[in-house]
Amino acid sequence: MVEPLDFIDALLASNSNSIVIIDEAYADFAGQTAIPLLDKYDNLIITRTFSKARSLAGIRLGVALGSPLAISKLYDVKNSFNSYCVDYVAQEVGLASINDQTLVDLNIAKIIATRNWFGKELEKLGFVITDSQTNFVFIQSPLSSAKNLYEKMYEAHIIIRYWDKPRISNWVRITIGTEEEMRNVLAFLAEFIQQEKMNNSIGIN
Ligand SMILES: *Cc1c(COP(=O)(O)O)cnc(C)c1O
Repeated sequence: MVEPLDFIDALLASNSNSIVIIDEAYADFAGQTAIPLLDKYDNLIITRTFSKARSLAGIRLGVALGSPLAISKLYDVKNSFNSYCVDYVAQEVGLASINDQTLVDLNIAKIIATRNWFGKELEKLGFVITDSQTNFVFIQSPLSSAKNLYEKMYEAHIIIRYWDKPRISNWVRITIGTEEEMRNVLAFLAEFIQQEKMNNSIGIN
């Protein structure tokens, strides 16, 4: 679920003595951003990563957007605490990405198309899937526990996310890769469901 801008506006208004950070790691996939609020609030900082929509996780680059006041607060601590200096090559690659928004938009469209297709295929296999506005899907297995699914996939060298936490302990998160990678994941899951059905019918589960 994407929080509406009104919600963020109210959050900023009621926290005017604090810096409020909105992490927009997935905003490119959601088509919504808090950037318009930068003109209205001095205490807002928006963070964005180049790791997701821009597929540049290897350069370890992000940006912070904020008022001169808010950014000056970052500079106050930057040289004492910054263990993550941005090297010159990363800056150049980041700039090239910013200057080629067409490629980034194509990348986003491709990931969203793969995500939507992958989600439909998962539903055909019986998985429950929540609405996604990101580059991952959050799903529940029809027959086995999330932990079992996570472990079986791990053994098959497919690494997904699983959290043993209240409310989400029966769900797993799968990041969308290339179409070919997702085909392999689907093939694995189809096989997995077959196996689970068989185990259920002979009473192993
Ligand atoms: C991926 C991600 C980031 C940034 O990741 P980096 O690769 O370290 O830039 C930040 N916040 C969230 C919620 C993320 O999922």
